[in-house]
Amino acid sequence: MQQEVLREAPAGKVSGYVCTLCGWQGRPKTRAKGSILIEIVLWLFFLVPGLIYSIWRLTTKDRVCRSCGSVAIIPAGSPRGRAMLGMRA
Ligand SMILES: [Zn+2]
Repeated sequence: MQQEVLREAPAGKVSGYVCTLCGWQGRPKTRAKGSILIEIVLWLFFLVPGLIYSIWRLTTKDRVCRSCGSVAIIPAGSPRGRAMLGMRA
């Protein structure tokens, strides 16, 4: 007998991220590092570096604050995140 695993977070558990700079909370957006222009140039003139650069960009995404763009965000469920939310509540 197998029970269905619930993937949703239990009620009361804090989800998302908290920005340590501006206090914003929610789902962060991801930002690819590097430049799309460099990627295009590399692809046009040097196929292999273009491929490497594309892979590098895809694998080095930053989670950033939607409010101020800072990378200084922490999981809201972490002790520090809960403390930050507690201060604002
Ligand atoms: Zn922020």
